[in-house]
Amino acid sequence: MKIFNTLTRRKEEFKPVTPGKAGIYVCGPTVYDFIHIGNARPMIVFDTLRRYLEYRGYEVNYVSNFTDVDDKIIRRANEEGVDSLEISERYIKECKQDMEALNVRPATTHPQATKEIPDMIDMVKTLIEKGHAYCVNGTVYFRTRSFPDYGKLSHKNIDDLESGHRDEAHQLKVSGEDEKEDPLDFVLWKPMKPGEPFWESPWGKGRPGWHLECSVMSKKYIGGTLDIHAGGEDLIFPHHENEIAQSEAANGTTFSNYWMHNGFLKIDNEKMSKSLGNFFTVREICEKYDPQVIRFFMLSAQYRSPLNFADTLVEAAKNGLDRIHNAARDLSDKAAGVDGTGASAETREQLESIIKRFDDAMDDDLNTADAISVLFELVKYANQTRETAAPQDAAAMLDTLSTLADVLGIHALPEEDGMLDSDIEALIEERNAARKEKNFARADEIRNLLEQKGILLKDTREGVKWQRI
Ligand code: AMP
Ligand code: ZN
Repeated sequence: MKIFNTLTRRKEEFKPVTPGKAGIYVCGPTVYDFIHIGNARPMIVFDTLRRYLEYRGYEVNYVSNFTDVDDKIIRRANEEGVDSLEISERYIKECKQDMEALNVRPATTHPQATKEIPDMIDMVKTLIEKGHAYCVNGTVYFRTRSFPDYGKLSHKNIDDLESGHRDEAHQLKVSGEDEKEDPLDFVLWKPMKPGEPFWESPWGKGRPGWHLECSVMSKKYIGGTLDIHAGGEDLIFPHHENEIAQSEAANGTTFSNYWMHNGFLKIDNEKMSKSLGNFFTVREICEKYDPQVIRFFMLSAQYRSPLNFADTLVEAAKNGLDRIHNAARDLSDKAAGVDGTGASAETREQLESIIKRFDDAMDDDLNTADAISVLFELVKYANQTRETAAPQDAAAMLDTLSTLADVLGIHALPEEDGMLDSDIEALIEERNAARKEKNFARADEIRNLLEQKGILLKDTREGVKWQRI
């Protein structure tokens, strides 16, 4: 498999540290609110990377953290008058629920910063001992210039960064950071302020800096050198650059061999983000669309491309997914319980070629957009041979379709007693017509039928909305 490595800006053949194994660390969300669908992009994309590597026979150790101590969490806790632990635990639970809906598998380990403080203190101590860090008034800073490779990931030049900072001298004074030896130095440990959570440390009561958390947790759960470190492209600088500096300075080994960064999910060509206020939470979007549609939509673009969130594009994804569901149901009816072992040579040859092209697409830096096109070729082939295929051929096609869709985290056959979106909408149309004709008995019957299938209808001013429960 070839992976575009942000570090070298080239596609490189993936060679893990230990053959047959892959250690992947993905920066997770800061848990102070519901996640938005922009945050869901790295979750879906890198869950797909994990699924693909497993499908290719790798044993994957997939680690993704929750940042559960942070200014935003503390602010939210103060607003609500509760402990910050209550906020982080609440939103970790909600995040896990959204991940499950999106068919993002739980990580091998989901470390939480607040549970790893002793290891963080140890790394800071090591950095101080090695001359890479220093303490002033309870704050420990990383001495950025002591790490000659600083800037290698983001391809920034340290002197340019320095001159960019020089004008900020005034600002530094205002923020109280003028105590730093160099404006480029960043915080490893910050002293406690009144009302904030804190831990005891050799430098006084305080809490870890955000960058430090990932360096420590990835080392603990994967090891000194990661195969792949991933996250959104906004994390390249300074977060990942700082992680490299801390980890390589402390451990003396390469921190991560490959760096993968997803492009932004945008809305009206702007990055979707909490601070801009132009976001939709996963929770609210899943009221409107089946979460499988959202997942399919996310994978409809290669992960490094920006992806615009627009109803028309999501609708297109929904239609595409319906085509896969329809073909799978058709194949399932035709296979009628037989398995695919007796499929014809022609069918087997077709399927082998489809699998090869699917793998080629995924091997090319996880090109899910092309992989989905290959799935549609299979759907087309299934439809073309609808009249002629024997049950064994149908079974073999269904098997391949399900396996490949599953690599993308997509169910080719909708959940057991679930209904297709198109079926639900047809029933809603029928109910609308019944109500127009004042046939309320039929309208109620349809509402009850849908309810039994776990579909809740809501009559709103914009018409009938539905939701899976
Ligand atoms: P945060 O909670 O902001 O640290 O973000 C968690 C993860 O979501 C990080 O990997 C971010 O890079 C990623 N992320 C945030 N917003 C977007 C977006 N609009 N598109 C893609 N990824 C995003
Ligand atoms: Zn991180």
